[in-house]
Amino acid sequence: MKTAYRQFQNVLDQLKQEGLYKEEQQIRTRQGSKIETVEGGGCLNFCANNYLGLAGSEELVEAAKEGLDRWGYGLSSVRFICGTQEVHKQLEKSLAAFFGMEDAILYSSCFDANGGIFECLLKDDCAVISDELNHASIIDGVRLCKAKKYRYKNNNMEELEKCLQEAQDARIRLIVTDGVFSMDGILADLQGICRLADQYDALVMVDDSHAAGFVGKNGRGTPEACGVEGRVDILTGTLGKALGGASGGYVCAARPIVDLLRQQSRPYLFSNTLAPSIAAASLKALEIAQKDSWRREKLEENTRYFRSEIQKMGFEVIESTHPIVAVLFYEAEKANRAADIMMQQGIYVRSFVYPVVPKGKARIRVQLSAAHSREDLDRALNAFRQLAGEVAR
Ligand SMILES: *Cc1c(COP(=O)(O)O)cnc(C)c1O
Repeated sequence: MKTAYRQFQNVLDQLKQEGLYKEEQQIRTRQGSKIETVEGGGCLNFCANNYLGLAGSEELVEAAKEGLDRWGYGLSSVRFICGTQEVHKQLEKSLAAFFGMEDAILYSSCFDANGGIFECLLKDDCAVISDELNHASIIDGVRLCKAKKYRYKNNNMEELEKCLQEAQDARIRLIVTDGVFSMDGILADLQGICRLADQYDALVMVDDSHAAGFVGKNGRGTPEACGVEGRVDILTGTLGKALGGASGGYVCAARPIVDLLRQQSRPYLFSNTLAPSIAAASLKALEIAQKDSWRREKLEENTRYFRSEIQKMGFEVIESTHPIVAVLFYEAEKANRAADIMMQQGIYVRSFVYPVVPKGKARIRVQLSAAHSREDLDRALNAFRQLAGEVAR
């Protein structure tokens, strides 16, 4: 065996020792509120990003099948050579229209979208100012560009303002934030960010992966929820969460920005076109997100009910209105044990411990869906109630 292999194995052993080794649950069924895992049997799923309940839906399976028949399996090309079909252009148009932006551009994933933005738009005489809790794909994307990098404490507008002052000489200043911080379920302070962006002549970029399709009165995301629509310059998001749950990402922005990305954004230029069946089904998902307002309302109602009931039981949760509910256990060992006990009771939730969340802030992240019935929620709440006895808080 080559010596490097032994060293990789050592890293893995270390992860196992520290309780950081992630085991994958294999699922036997479609995605949904009720799933069956190979190891744990049937359970209620409270850890998917399936906010609108579309991931396993018959409607999207049908739309994807029709897309498959109409457009074929794949394009064997990047977009600019021979990989653009009408369905891709339609989806870009619909995304731009839905989010109220001039234009949109598709990527294979939002990870790729975020990976391809900064290096393309910002050069070494520019500045990028990033929230410390931003998603890994933003962090990686920022790393790839030569702009001067600034980081501010989560949602801390004083620190953001200091960064902007320090970056006054930069040719372009870009503030970038997650719309929703996924470990806490809280929204970015977009009012504060947009106010400072105006004051210091900066661009604003929001990654709304955990909001697109369901946050805000019409599901247009955190800019709508925060009342700053029209003031966000770049909106990225995924088709892999509420909007169907398969894959794909997008950037919505003013035309010159989208045009420049099409010319020079590396993941767009050098990675294969999104499968047309997914583009077709994503169009359907977008249509459903707009037409079926009951899904958003049900999700909101589920979120309200669950948050209020779990707090009544004395659990400490991070205050918000988002369907990501962070239930704090503080100690990693407690959070891990709690998740195991929940699974034994047929409730699938995940624990998150350091380094994914700060040390001493271990938690269980519950994610609600429009697919959950009141009975599903009560079963999860009952499991938490029993847990309260077993894992001292
Ligand atoms: C999930 C997520 C992504 C990644 O999206 P993919 O399309 O799965 O690559 C990017 N940013 C944020 C904020 C996310 O939550």
